Amino acid sequence: MKTPLPPDEPDRIEALRRFNVLDTPPEQSFDDLTLIAAAICQTPIALVSLVDETRQWFKSKIGTSLSGTSREIAFCSHAILHRDDVMEVHDARGDERFVNNPLVTEEPHIRFYAGAPLVTADGHALGALCVMDRQPRTLKPDQLAALRALSRHVVAQLELRRHAIAAAGEITERRNAENQLHLQNEKLSANKDEAERLLKLAQRTRHALLSVLEDERRAGQNLRESEERFRQLAENIAEVFWITDPAKQHMLYVSPAYEQIWGRTCDSIYERPESWLDSIHPDDRQHVHDDALSKQPAGQYDATYRIVRPDGTVRWIRDRAFPVHDAAGVVYRIAGVAADITEQRLLEAQLRQAQKMEALGTLSGGIAHDFNNILGAIIGNVHLLRLDIDSAHPAAQSIGEIEQASNRAKDLVRQILTFSRQQPQVRQIIPLSPIIEEVVRLLRATIPAEVEILKTIEPDVPNVFADGTQIHQVLLNLCTNAWHAIGKVNGRIEIHLRGTEVERDDSSVLPRLRRGRYACLCINDNGHGMDTAILERIFEPFFTTKEPGRGTGLGLSVVHGIMQGHDGVIRVTSQPGQGTSFQLYFPAVEGEMETTDADWRNVRAGNGQRILYLDDESLLSSLGVRMLRRLGYQAEGFTNPLATLEMFTANPTRFDVVITDLHMPGMSGIDFARGIRRVSADIPIILSSGYLTEEVIEKARNAGITRLLQKPNTMQDFSESLGHVLPAKPPTT
Ligand code: ADP
Ligand code: MG
Repeated sequence: MKTPLPPDEPDRIEALRRFNVLDTPPEQSFDDLTLIAAAICQTPIALVSLVDETRQWFKSKIGTSLSGTSREIAFCSHAILHRDDVMEVHDARGDERFVNNPLVTEEPHIRFYAGAPLVTADGHALGALCVMDRQPRTLKPDQLAALRALSRHVVAQLELRRHAIAAAGEITERRNAENQLHLQNEKLSANKDEAERLLKLAQRTRHALLSVLEDERRAGQNLRESEERFRQLAENIAEVFWITDPAKQHMLYVSPAYEQIWGRTCDSIYERPESWLDSIHPDDRQHVHDDALSKQPAGQYDATYRIVRPDGTVRWIRDRAFPVHDAAGVVYRIAGVAADITEQRLLEAQLRQAQKMEALGTLSGGIAHDFNNILGAIIGNVHLLRLDIDSAHPAAQSIGEIEQASNRAKDLVRQILTFSRQQPQVRQIIPLSPIIEEVVRLLRATIPAEVEILKTIEPDVPNVFADGTQIHQVLLNLCTNAWHAIGKVNGRIEIHLRGTEVERDDSSVLPRLRRGRYACLCINDNGHGMDTAILERIFEPFFTTKEPGRGTGLGLSVVHGIMQGHDGVIRVTSQPGQGTSFQLYFPAVEGEMETTDADWRNVRAGNGQRILYLDDESLLSSLGVRMLRRLGYQAEGFTNPLATLEMFTANPTRFDVVITDLHMPGMSGIDFARGIRRVSADIPIILSSGYLTEEVIEKARNAGITRLLQKPNTMQDFSESLGHVLPAKPPTT
């Protein structure tokens, strides 16, 4: 009879050998399992059979006295072919594999067999746990299941046994070693000195070991403390602290400030380290990327760039990085600090701007002052000429043009003086709406009718503390720009005044817009708009994009200067092709408008009142006198302050009004006025100057000066001022 062999036969035999179980005495733990198997399956015979090259050998047996059989006749030789399940032979006489088997034909006359293979963890069937009967049978499903379970227990038991043997081997080895040691000890104690030496050595070693351990413990604690300090520092600073690998593939750490500054979560950059590059403004991205790779490992990286937050706002970042070296000097990390310098940059820009304005202001203010005198002479003379020449005269047109040109020049000078803040500010509590009405009237008269001018004045706009003339100027400048920016067709300028409440301090504009109530004036146009490069420079004096003759570049710097003088804030929003919006915020003030007793537009002609007119420039002195005479006054011109004061002191009632220039060699207009006041307490004194600073105004007030007059003087100015200071007097005929 030929025995069928399983496919893993050599390995299977090898595995079986490793258990060292063949031919060992019976063991209780295996006998218990066969007993249970027989009891559950209700069979007279049960075996734990292990199959080696030539035989099956029973580790445990019930109902037979055999210790094993040859492999050829073993039922279990067949059972181990079915590693996955129980092999059940219901009636061996009806099974051609076993019909002639001597175990069937002779004692013990086996008819029924069921064997569950004993399969090791590595898949070899070593034998079977089997039950047998002398009559045909069929196991119930729960009996089959139990047989399977018990076969697994047999294998477990075999494993346990093997481990126990191995452990026992170790114990024996250790015992042997102990014995050896004991022998050695005995030898050692024979040499006591040597023993003591070794003991001391051992103690010293132990000591050294302990101190090394203590050092390590301390180092560990220091490390934990410094890590904690680092964490507190990193998580509380306003800057972003970050650590990456040199290739920038991984973000190893980024501090929480990242979320505030970048407006993105820390997780997002851990997940996608390249999102750092994505967040950089497209114009800056490439060079920052190149710098990061080339300069960071060398410790030379110090980059300033813009980032675009998810909400579209742009922030300026200063990012510095330092390489971290390992013990071998190789860079294995890059650590960096990134700070948000947006506000700092804005402040710096503002400071630069302020300094530039200051310098230009001083310079242009000085020029404007001299220019004013020259202009005064031109305008005054033109006015006189106009009175002498009738409109049919061949020179009349030229004179008209000279007048127009000099009026434009005068306007320019006034702008320069306002910008350089050498124009006195007269602030009062006023509503803005009448100024808007007036400017709209003026614009309507000047700007072509195709241009739509929309005016909206909301109710409940608070009053502001402002200089009406300057606000007038602001509006005119902004509207002129708007007009220049819009096209001929569909051009639209919107002027909108409303009261508004700013809920929270807003530092996105500088100077920062503080919370509180404001009158907000918006001038919007649908013109060509501006790009950021232009927007950044518009408030610079003399910055213009217009062709020569159309723009001076002063308009917005004047607006800026005036807004500063009013504690106001300007915001501009504009995009190329999208139009422009200027928003002016004036702090609201409580209180009513101060009423002025007279209409400043009131023009009056003189009635022969006697006027002392003093100007060191003989040209201006004689011009003034001629203009005043034209207005119906009796005027006398003087050029030398000291001599004039002497003359006046000698006869204080000779004049009804004194008009004096401010800057004169030998004596200033203010000192001259003081001298006059000493001899006449109530004579009106008018101080005329192109250079009226706050300081001058203050001094003038202290010197008892009645009124200030801005140069260049026109006949209109004279008439207004004199109308104010002189009591109305019935005409003398
Ligand atoms: P100017 O009008 O003499 O050029 P401004 O100081 O008034 O000087 O304006 C400076 C520059 O700002 C202008 O040249 C123009 O480029 C730009 N600008 C001002 N206002 C507007 C606007 N409403 N639309 C488009 N650009 C404007
Ligand atoms: Mg302008």
